[in-house]
Amino acid sequence: MQGFCNHRPIGRQEKRTIVDIANPPLCGGCKTFMTNCTFAGINSALREHERFAVLGHVRPDGDALGSQLALALSLKQLGKDVRVWNEDGMLEKYSFLSRAELLTEPPSAPEDVDVAIALDTAIQNRLGTALEAIRSAKIWINIDHHPSNPGYGDLVYVDPTAPATGQILFELIKNQKLPLDGNIAENLYVAICTDTGSFQYPNTTARTFEIAAELVRVGVDVGSVSQQVYENFPRRRVELLRELLRTMRFEGQGRVASFSLSLKTAAELGVIPEDNEGLIDHLRAIRGVIVAVFFEELADGKVRVSMRSKSEKADVCAICQKFGGGGHTLAAGARIRGTLAEVEERVLKAICDVVDCNS
Ligand code: AMP
Ligand code: MN
Ligand code: MN
Repeated sequence: MQGFCNHRPIGRQEKRTIVDIANPPLCGGCKTFMTNCTFAGINSALREHERFAVLGHVRPDGDALGSQLALALSLKQLGKDVRVWNEDGMLEKYSFLSRAELLTEPPSAPEDVDVAIALDTAIQNRLGTALEAIRSAKIWINIDHHPSNPGYGDLVYVDPTAPATGQILFELIKNQKLPLDGNIAENLYVAICTDTGSFQYPNTTARTFEIAAELVRVGVDVGSVSQQVYENFPRRRVELLRELLRTMRFEGQGRVASFSLSLKTAAELGVIPEDNEGLIDHLRAIRGVIVAVFFEELADGKVRVSMRSKSEKADVCAICQKFGGGGHTLAAGARIRGTLAEVEERVLKAICDVVDCNS
C-alpha cells in the first residue's frame, strides 16, 4: 500500500489509502522516509482556507477532545467556519470543557470542507464515522504523537516525544501566533494533564511543566479542572471497578495483571464506555506488575484490549500491532475478533512471550 506524505504540494490530491504500518511511507517524489512538515506550513493552510472539520479518534480521551476543542476555538477566533466532529460526541465526563457544546457527532449526510484535521489519531480509520462525514477536503492535516502513526494526510506533524497532542498544539499556537485565550488554555491543559496521567508518565518533560505553567497564567483554574476530571465520577464507575477486581488475574509471576468486562456485567451495571477510562491504572499501580491489560467484550464480536506497561522493554504498542492495533510504547490498544476467553488467552500468551517472566 502507498502512504501519503507531507512532501506533496498542498492541494495535489490523489486517492487516499490507509497506510500499512509495517511499511513506513516514502515520498513519491524524493523516495525518502516521510518527515514532518513545518508549523509554518500548517499555519498557512489554516489561514488560507475557510471551512474546517476538526476530528479526533473514536472512544475519545481527554487529549482527543481537549485538542479538538482547543484547535477549533483558535480557528473560530480567526473567523473560520469550523465543524468539530467525533463519532462518540462529547462524553458526559468531559462536558465541563470550555465550549464543549461545539463538539458533536458527525452528520449522516457528508459535508464539503476545505481542510480536514485529524488530531491524536494513530490510524485514519479510528476517525470512525467522522471520516465518512467529509465529502471532500482539499487538504488533510494529521497532528499526532503516536509512534505508530504512519503519516496519512498531506500535512503531517507526528511527534512521538510529545506526551500529548495538546502539547504539540500549544507549540503550534505559540510558534505561529494563533489565538490563545482562557477557554483554549483550559482545553489544552486537560489534554496534557490527562495524557500524562497528571504529569506522572515518563514522557512528561520540563517543557510540559513550562507549558502547564503558561496555561495556568492564561487563566486555567487547576483545582477546578482537577476536581472535574478526577473527583466527579458517577458511582457506577466505582461499582464497575468492584466487579473488574473480582475478575483480576496474574500471569508470569505477577508481572502481568489483567481483568475483564463481559457484555453481561456491563449491562447489569448500566455502565457506559467512558466509565472504564483509567481503571486499568489500578492494575499498573501494583508492585511487581510490568504489563496491565483490560479486556472489554464488545457487541460486534470483538474484544477491546487496553494495555499499559511500566517498562520500555515491554513495548505494548508492538504487542498490540501484532493484533492490528497500535498506540505508544507504554500505552496501547487493539480490537480483536473472538470471544473474551479466546482473546484473553491469545493476548496474555503474546505478552508473556515478551515480558521475561522468569527473570
Ligand atoms: P486506551 O487503552 O484505549 O486508552 O488506548 C491507549 C493508546 O492506544 C491510545 O493512545 C490509543 O490511541 C491507542 N489505541 C487504543 N486502541 C487502539 C486501536 N484499536 N488501534 C490503534 N491504536 C489504539
Ligand atoms: Mn487519545
Ligand atoms: Mn494522546
